[in-house]
Amino acid sequence: MKEQLKHPVFTIIGSVADELNQPTFVIGGYVRDLLLGRPTSDIDIVTVGSGIELAERVGRALRLKSKVTVFKNFGTAMLCYKEMEIEFVGARKESYLRNSRKPIVEDGTLEDDQKRRDFTINALAISLNKETFGQLTDPFDGVKDLSGQIIRTPLDPDITFSDDPLRMMRAIRFSTQLGFQIADETLIAISRNKERIKIVSQERIVDELNKILLAQKPSTGFILLEETGLLPLIFPELSNLKGVDAVKGIAHKDNFYHTLKVLDQLAPKTGNLWLRWSALLHDIAKPATKRFVEGLGWTFYSHNFIGAKMIPGIFRRMKLPLNEKMKYVQKMVELHMRPIVLSEEEVTDSAVRRLLFEAGEDIDDLMTLCEADITSKNVGKVQRHLQNFQLVRQKLKEIDEKDSIRNFQPPVSGEEIMETFGLTPGREVGIIKNAIKEAILDGIIGNNHEEAHRFMLEKAAEIGLAPVR
Ligand code: ATP
Repeated sequence: MKEQLKHPVFTIIGSVADELNQPTFVIGGYVRDLLLGRPTSDIDIVTVGSGIELAERVGRALRLKSKVTVFKNFGTAMLCYKEMEIEFVGARKESYLRNSRKPIVEDGTLEDDQKRRDFTINALAISLNKETFGQLTDPFDGVKDLSGQIIRTPLDPDITFSDDPLRMMRAIRFSTQLGFQIADETLIAISRNKERIKIVSQERIVDELNKILLAQKPSTGFILLEETGLLPLIFPELSNLKGVDAVKGIAHKDNFYHTLKVLDQLAPKTGNLWLRWSALLHDIAKPATKRFVEGLGWTFYSHNFIGAKMIPGIFRRMKLPLNEKMKYVQKMVELHMRPIVLSEEEVTDSAVRRLLFEAGEDIDDLMTLCEADITSKNVGKVQRHLQNFQLVRQKLKEIDEKDSIRNFQPPVSGEEIMETFGLTPGREVGIIKNAIKEAILDGIIGNNHEEAHRFMLEKAAEIGLAPVR
């Protein structure tokens, strides 16, 4: 392994550890990713002795300008060197009592430390001390599991998962990110221990969900969450999308699998987490709005509006941000039907202008979502929709260039309306301002001051207002 640890920082850590007479290793995700050839800059160092002291001495040896951050309560320390973030911890032994989330932590050996790791592939350690530099310690056959592409717990999975139930979601997340299979006995243990997820904090759960969402093929993770029974416990609204109803032989599509297909189709197009959340939630109100209408079949009227209304509740419970990120997701969910409706009808300038007005800067993201939303198995139908969307995109571009609606600023301000007619703030100002905006969106007048001013005078006359000068 020496070859792989070429970076001089590892030799420096090793020689400082030798001075302290502490066996010291690079461990966990860094070793896993090194063997997989995935670049990472997060390095975890475990030492048999004080992690804090080692970190402080390494900081001095590296002549760091920035400080070593010490977390006394956790017995860990962290330093940043070049592009790397290096965390130091003393090897520890953890024992859990069944009803507590907090383990009893004692100093331990390297092997104790490896046993408290979540998966065999995350328990690999490489020595940094001079004499043994580069030697791999792999007590649970992690290398074999890496080449077999398997996620497996180092101990009895019932123990590993019961000790920290978040590991069930981590198993699913790693399986999704790495494209690895979860070992049968590990997977079965997830189903068996699923209820324990309830003791895990929401912040940790949503962290894993975000990582699943950002993977290349997010559906893998959501299917595993569903199959193990975790999904209804952590995300009942998503779980409710599953299933197909049929009336008189007419069935609707399974909205869970549809949603996952949309996510997978969207993934190569964007790394924007919030656009991916929008895809996950775009049809979230379908179960609530589902109705069978005689002669029409299955309908989901207003599922986009109801869906947008459901989002604050979901975000609050999930501990997702309640700021402009949430508003963006709401906007995407609310507008996700618009481009398709537009492309099915005649693409009129005014419909395009209105869409641009409502979507604003996020119009391109909305189009990307809508293109991913086409999941028909009928190739001809998909082609037709995509072609129509091309037309919509082209029209959007033309109109945006001509009318600059994307960042709509009223060409006549409220101030100007008040000054012209000697008004104080009130209803009339709003009526005139809105009439100007509507006229621009309908294409009756252009988006410029001259035409808007003329229109203002006409509109004001209609409601009995005359200019003061
Ligand atoms: P990523 O950076 O993609 O999250 P990682 O494996 O580096 O992957 P971290 O969460 O940074 O994950 O954890 C570093 C190492 O710490 C892991 O490789 C694993 O050995 C250990 N670890 C982290 N979380 C847990 C946990 N909940 N239970 C047991 N071991 C854990």
